[in-house]
Amino acid sequence: LTSSPTRPGLYVIHIAAEMAPVAKVGGLGDVVAGLGKALQKRGHLVEIVLPKYDCMQYDRIRDLRVLDVVVESYFDGQLFKNKIWVGTVEGLPVYFIEPHHPNKFFWRGEFYGEHDDFKRFSFFSRAALELLLQAGKKPDIIHCHDWQTAFVAPLYWDLYAPKGLNSARICFTCHNFEYQGTAPAAELASCGLDVHQLNRPDRMQDNSAHDRVNPVKGGVVFSNIVTTVSPTYAQEVRTAEGGKGLHSTLNFHSKKFIGILNGIDTDAWNPATDTFLEVQYTANDLQGKAENKEAMRRHLGLSSADVRKPLLGCITRLVPQKGVHLIRHAIYRTLELGGQFVLLGSSPVPHIQREFESIAHQFQNHDDIRLILKYDESLSHYIYAASDMLIIPSIFEPCGLTQLIAMRYGSVPIARKTGGLNDSVFDIDDDTIPLQFRNGFTFLNPDEQSVNNALERAFNLYKNNPEKWQQLVQNDMNIDFSWDSSAAHYEELYAKSVARARATNRP
Ligand code: ADP
Repeated sequence: LTSSPTRPGLYVIHIAAEMAPVAKVGGLGDVVAGLGKALQKRGHLVEIVLPKYDCMQYDRIRDLRVLDVVVESYFDGQLFKNKIWVGTVEGLPVYFIEPHHPNKFFWRGEFYGEHDDFKRFSFFSRAALELLLQAGKKPDIIHCHDWQTAFVAPLYWDLYAPKGLNSARICFTCHNFEYQGTAPAAELASCGLDVHQLNRPDRMQDNSAHDRVNPVKGGVVFSNIVTTVSPTYAQEVRTAEGGKGLHSTLNFHSKKFIGILNGIDTDAWNPATDTFLEVQYTANDLQGKAENKEAMRRHLGLSSADVRKPLLGCITRLVPQKGVHLIRHAIYRTLELGGQFVLLGSSPVPHIQREFESIAHQFQNHDDIRLILKYDESLSHYIYAASDMLIIPSIFEPCGLTQLIAMRYGSVPIARKTGGLNDSVFDIDDDTIPLQFRNGFTFLNPDEQSVNNALERAFNLYKNNPEKWQQLVQNDMNIDFSWDSSAAHYEELYAKSVARARATNRP
């Protein structure tokens, strides 16, 4: 196995189910790549371990090769061989684990949503630790993400630290407490964890179903550092309404729990260099943005008759969390207000997908509305650049990346005040916020009235005060949403935890 060079700085290994752009479903993929790159830039050694999915974007992996070792890992009472691949993604070294298991865990044509996800990812978590052990790696930090790799925390302390993989502190980031991956307690045994020991209220037992185990709870209980992706969301999940059953656990472990707002990858999301766009542009040259709007309208068959007609974008997974009923409402309201609306979204929920397909059908030849119901990375870049505003009416939003990307592309966010949206979008008309931080339009209540109010204020400013609008756009484009400050925050948490461990281990 490739050995890890010694160097100053920390040695951080992320074990994750997603990494942009090779295996991305949502924000988690962006975080693993963005945080990884930012930490690497700050002088740390960063490596990533991912499953080797059949459906990855293989053209985005450089120098992919198989290592001539086989890592055997335990599952369901047997040892299974894993092929280990290594390659470079976005300049980061990545290990890909390919299990030789008859169930072909990562050979399913999709990342998630399989009936045996609990098995697939508990297998992967164990195989990843086995890889680190057998490779003789001595990381300072093992950083796992979401329920899929939360198993790493109990596996590390119960099985791998005793085997000698004991240099690390464990950091667990929960990107969304909605998804906890609970399963009947007995299933935990497959990856070698002790069901009897762990299915207890202070360990992995689900807080509402006592015959089930909860991997996210295990991540919280067994990690040294627990983070989520914005300060407001960290507060929200500590309440009974927001915690999805885990508020008491998070309150109990509050000393190690913190919210850090995600950054965005400002190289990948840069209107000045973005090759997906018709024309590149900067805050000082907004003509380019106008040209993208024009080109996009042509591309989608929308009317170009009125250059000044506001174009409202929405780029999202269509799931209840995102406020689908408010998105639907915003489409019709935009039409009434004389604007144009472009939605790029797809839904894993059949009835939501069907509902939006029927709206898409209703407007298929309409001059001002277009719904594109698929996942399309390149089109998403184009829409951020072309739109004047982006709507994000989420019911809850751990961090949210679309409002950050939108601002970088000069698309003004209209967002509900929740989670990370509350930490990054500040209303133009809110006198309690210093002027220089105001950057969009917000509303509090998740209802149509509140959406109307924010939309109307945005349309009014756009139509009646073009100069102030332009200033707002330029201001938004110049805000620094890079990973630099978030990565510095993670670095500090890592370093403190490592220092604490070294202090206690000193003879
Ligand atoms: P979540 O992780 O809950 O889906 P985030 O706002 O954190 O939401 O991240 C969403 C990311 O996925 C953004 O980078 C956004 O541009 C992208 N995205 C969402 N839907 C689509 C889509 N249909 N096509 C392309 N990109 C999408």
